[in-house]
Amino acid sequence: MEHIDDHNLERYYLGMVHGRETIQIEKHLFWCEECVKRAYEAQDYVDAIRAAIIKGDFDLDWLERNAARESKRRR
Ligand SMILES: [Zn+2]
Repeated sequence: MEHIDDHNLERYYLGMVHGRETIQIEKHLFWCEECVKRAYEAQDYVDAIRAAIIKGDFDLDWLERNAARESKRRR
């Protein structure tokens, strides 16, 4: 199986993944250290966006300010 992409790791963390897809992702995370590491990064990223939205300072600038991190993450 291919690695899980960042978008799906974010969806997984947000509880947007269901059924068969959940099983596939969890099976993969069970043995793939690299994806587990990236799953942690996805969590941090999603949490950071949510925190910014709740505080009311989420806007396009926020995405830009975090773009450096994002591009590093996406490779
Ligand atoms: Zn993987």
